[in-house]
Amino acid sequence: MIPTPCENCDNVHAETRKQGPARWVCVKFPRLEGLSPVAPTAWIDKEPYMRCVGINGGFCPMFVKRREGQKDNGL
Ligand code: SF4
Repeated sequence: MIPTPCENCDNVHAETRKQGPARWVCVKFPRLEGLSPVAPTAWIDKEPYMRCVGINGGFCPMFVKRREGQKDNGL
């Protein structure tokens, strides 16, 4: 299998990519209301997608390789 770093994936939300990797969220993984034990409704509003750091274990099945020199499209 080939490693799948989020850094090289097209699915990192463009706004969060401008921040540090710990804050990147993935547009392929919506945050589902009720699944957070801390603040299920607040997290939905503020961060509608799951953080990449909690998803990608190195071989992410949703990985989509970014093209060379690709610009973020402001998702
Ligand atoms: S979690 Fe998977 S799909 Fe999302 S940005 Fe990372 S590699 Fe891509």
